[in-house]
Amino acid sequence: MSYQSINPFNNQKLKDYPSHTDQDIQNALDTAEKILKSDWIQQVDTRIAVLRKLATNMRAQKAELAKLMTQDMGKLIKQSEGEIETCAKIAEYYADHAKEFLAPVSYETELGEAWVEHHPLGIIMAVEPWNFPFYQLMRVFAPNCAIGNPVVAKHASIVPQCAEAFERLILDAGAPKGVWTNLFISSDQVADIIADPRVQGVALTGSEGAGRAVAGQAGKHVTKSTLELGGNDVFIVLDDADLEKAIKIGCQARVNNTGQVCTAAKRFILHEKIAEQFKTGMIKVFEGLKIGDPLDSETTLGPLSSADALEKLTKQVDKAVENGAKVVTGGKPYEHEGNFYQPTILENISRDNPAWYEEFFGPVAQIYVAKDEDEIVSIANDSNYGLGGVIHSQNIERAKKLASRVETGMIWINWYTDTAPELPFGGIKNSGYGHELSIDGFKEFVQKRLVVVKSPKK
Ligand code: NAP
Repeated sequence: MSYQSINPFNNQKLKDYPSHTDQDIQNALDTAEKILKSDWIQQVDTRIAVLRKLATNMRAQKAELAKLMTQDMGKLIKQSEGEIETCAKIAEYYADHAKEFLAPVSYETELGEAWVEHHPLGIIMAVEPWNFPFYQLMRVFAPNCAIGNPVVAKHASIVPQCAEAFERLILDAGAPKGVWTNLFISSDQVADIIADPRVQGVALTGSEGAGRAVAGQAGKHVTKSTLELGGNDVFIVLDDADLEKAIKIGCQARVNNTGQVCTAAKRFILHEKIAEQFKTGMIKVFEGLKIGDPLDSETTLGPLSSADALEKLTKQVDKAVENGAKVVTGGKPYEHEGNFYQPTILENISRDNPAWYEEFFGPVAQIYVAKDEDEIVSIANDSNYGLGGVIHSQNIERAKKLASRVETGMIWINWYTDTAPELPFGGIKNSGYGHELSIDGFKEFVQKRLVVVKSPKK
């Protein structure tokens, strides 16, 4: 696997990165193991200070870090800046809560005094995607820094500038070498790392295929894993929704990050009474998007992350149309240099169309029309994924009842599927298992040690 930064706006190569060797990996694991035997794991205040300094430094370097993201994978510059702020908040959240989350928890038992202590688990392997180049790394780094687990990380091969910058940021924040090690390595080398007995956990965010490969290897070596995989999220609009708001939020939820978000609104399930109105509003927004240089703050739709991503999305839409889908607007790449795809709306997608079950990772919305809640639930739950989802209705009680019927890991009412450091993030079905962020994310890779002092009376 070659690590290259190629600007998706014009496909010009910016930089090549040499891959790490097997010896580099051994050195990284040796250094990480030394961390586990050092004072680092006792020094919670030092780890908290690193998290706080990291947040401060990221905010101070926001402009240059945002530019790296935009150059590596084409994110609109304002969205790149927003991602840096989100990262700083995650670092601060775990700094604020590290002591509370690490504190022992007492258990009631007639056998005596019992409590669970929280210790580092060991070295964690992180395998991460390109679509949120810093945020995805921070979701793993911050809780593991709070715990004391060293991390070896393989970032996606198309965002090497960000991968390199993140490692530097952590060292600059005062962490010793080995707390976070970036490795430019292949999938086979990832498998070798998981097989190493020093590695006690693997966190992967990415596609279903990568998830299956990594979880399979983790299972073989009895190593704990978490998987944050793809999604085919619903955006349900009921007949009593505030339509203007729903159209605005729904369109943004589909085209944010050029549609390359795991929890993007992908399947719009519209109540038949408002379907035409919603569709008309959506066409207007999609056709009004301004494509261009993602570094230009006037641009509202950037390129896809790579030429491969453009080719994949083009083939998917073509196949959907061959199988009966109707293109409402868009439907092909832009005639423009770089990896631009037209914002697209598809309808008439039947269950025998492969598009029904696939994740479209780009600005392609699918529209489904339903006559009532039962039909909405039947469409929503007929999916192999279960990551996020959204319901728009002005009747909150009605929306809550519907939310409890949709099979998904997260569901938001009158908003889009959002993220916050204090809220658990994770999916069900083929969207993966386990959580990141919040106390739930912290608990995934902490060693829980039960201690019991037997009561002499029993
Ligand atoms: P991807 O191709 O699976 O890549 C993700 C990471 O896995 C990359 O670092 C990739 O390395 C690596 N990888 C791929 N195959 C591997 C294997 N067999 N063994 C070990 N590592 C492997 O996914 P992507 O296209 O970058 O990201 C998009 C996908 O991620 C979408 O499905 C999206 O929904 C999902 N996603 C999920 C979440 C979530 O929180 N649930 C968040 C963001 C994205 P290379 O780059 O070197 O191939």
